[in-house]
Amino acid sequence: MIIILFGPPGAGKGTQAKLIEERLGYPKLATGDIFRAAIKNETELGKKVKSILDRGELVPDETVVGLVKETIESEPYNKKGYVLDGFPRTVNQAEQFDRLLEEKGQQVDRFIFLKVPEGELVRRISSREENRADDTPEKIRHRLDIYHKETEPVKEYYNNQSKLKNVDGVGDVEEIFTRIRKTLHGA
Ligand code: AMP
Repeated sequence: MIIILFGPPGAGKGTQAKLIEERLGYPKLATGDIFRAAIKNETELGKKVKSILDRGELVPDETVVGLVKETIESEPYNKKGYVLDGFPRTVNQAEQFDRLLEEKGQQVDRFIFLKVPEGELVRRISSREENRADDTPEKIRHRLDIYHKETEPVKEYYNNQSKLKNVDGVGDVEEIFTRIRKTLHGA
């Protein structure tokens, strides 16, 4: 099963993707985590994307799609499916991803939107323990602006394919996980 966990920064995608991986066995593919690791290890990819992440902007579509393509063709992602966290972030990425899956005779099975009010998002990101370089108040606002402009239309794209599942992202982690699990049952 191919699952997309979608929502604004701070919606809890990372936390829930981790639970899906640990408890349901679908490996987590988080593009932001891959970029942060590349920056830390000072790889070519890391050098290319560092200033973009620092500014809270989006990495070019072709770089992200290339990375996702390579990753899903490797283990463990090429086994029983995976859960995407942070991808696709533009309609162009979603279209390219669909084409990529089509070539493999696959498709996105679930698109889960984690719904969290804006005030709660800012509060959550500001109190994150990881101390991310892009979590200062101005950068959080900038990432939210980009989310509304570039990323939110992706929701409509999958709604048009009747794949959208809305999940209330407010509550405790276990409660939210239970809501997500329910959307994975049935057709
Ligand atoms: P995240 O950990 O998902 O919040 O991602 C952190 C940063 O990585 C984002 O602010 C972007 O700069 C970059 N990034 C992650 N995923 C994508 C993507 N699908 N498209 C473009 N940029 C991305």
